[in-house]
Amino acid sequence: MTMKPENQSLQSVNIEGPVCPTPLPHNDRIVLGHGSGGRMSHDLIARTFFAAFSNPALTARDDAARLLTSSGEQLAISTDSHVVSPLFFPGGDIGRLAVCGTVNDVAMLGAEPLWLTAGFILEEGLEIETLQRVVASMQAAAQEAGVQIVAGDTKVVQKGKADGLFITTTGIGVIRPGVNISGAGARPGDVVIISGPIGDHGIAVLQARGELGFDSDICSDTAPLNGLVSALLSANAAAVHVLRDPTRGGLATTLNEIARQSQVGILLEEDRIPVRPAVAAACEMLGFDPLYVANEGKLVAIVAPHAAQDVLDAMRSHAYGTEAAIIGRVEAGAPGQVLMKTAIGGTRVVDMLAGEMLPRIC
Ligand code: MG
Repeated sequence: MTMKPENQSLQSVNIEGPVCPTPLPHNDRIVLGHGSGGRMSHDLIARTFFAAFSNPALTARDDAARLLTSSGEQLAISTDSHVVSPLFFPGGDIGRLAVCGTVNDVAMLGAEPLWLTAGFILEEGLEIETLQRVVASMQAAAQEAGVQIVAGDTKVVQKGKADGLFITTTGIGVIRPGVNISGAGARPGDVVIISGPIGDHGIAVLQARGELGFDSDICSDTAPLNGLVSALLSANAAAVHVLRDPTRGGLATTLNEIARQSQVGILLEEDRIPVRPAVAAACEMLGFDPLYVANEGKLVAIVAPHAAQDVLDAMRSHAYGTEAAIIGRVEAGAPGQVLMKTAIGGTRVVDMLAGEMLPRIC
């Protein structure tokens, strides 16, 4: 299935017979698209959760909530549920993902993640050995990230009521003094940096499901990014305006979120966006656009132009940023929109993911 951005929907195309352009409103029942991380997720969150729970920390729409303690310290807190299928895939597993996903969301506020909690929903019949492998992987990832898993919960549901194992993690970190990073911080003139090639995670999980239809050696990029964040902030913390990890919905959706939060335009250059040849080939065959494929070990940094080279150099000197690249810039025109200069010289709109492309990817 090719997942087209909404502005390229089928409405203007003359097709006989029933046409079902995505997204349909789906106001009465949950559909898979509500979990995509794209437009339908955003609509559901705004209508249901923001409407009920509205408060400034929540509706800031960042990867983690920023909370000020009475002693003047700023905390970052984030929570994330993990339902990836299969549980193990090249380059990672649900345990590593559950630790890294939450560590990264806390780190994207410029915080040092310190503690995690973990809630497990286990399906009756799950092999204890499988659970132990997942837990060992979580501990290895936590050790790599320098965080401790300090509280947890275990529930078991009947066979058929869950798919093996789901994990929810919550993370707490302390925001470094003087750091003010938010999706609303992008300014015209800023430089857009990606920490490495996009699309590895989504394609690796598809491969593990046997849905690629051919062999490849693509591995998920699942990794804790707090060390990379420390490295790039060391280069010039004040110049780093936005950090975000492009997970579900991919780079395109993440940049659209930032463009809307900051009320700026973002102009990408297609031929500067790193994509591994194997991922590009898989996307080509499957009809996917790598801009919409999930990553679990990449971050976008939006940085003041005078510091962009220093931040890029700092990223490239870290193991998880060796292939970092400048891929575009922030502009005052077209606020809320992402545009891309294509490799063949045109310019196109890059919209947020509209429906669901790859369910159960994280
Ligand atoms: Mg995130």
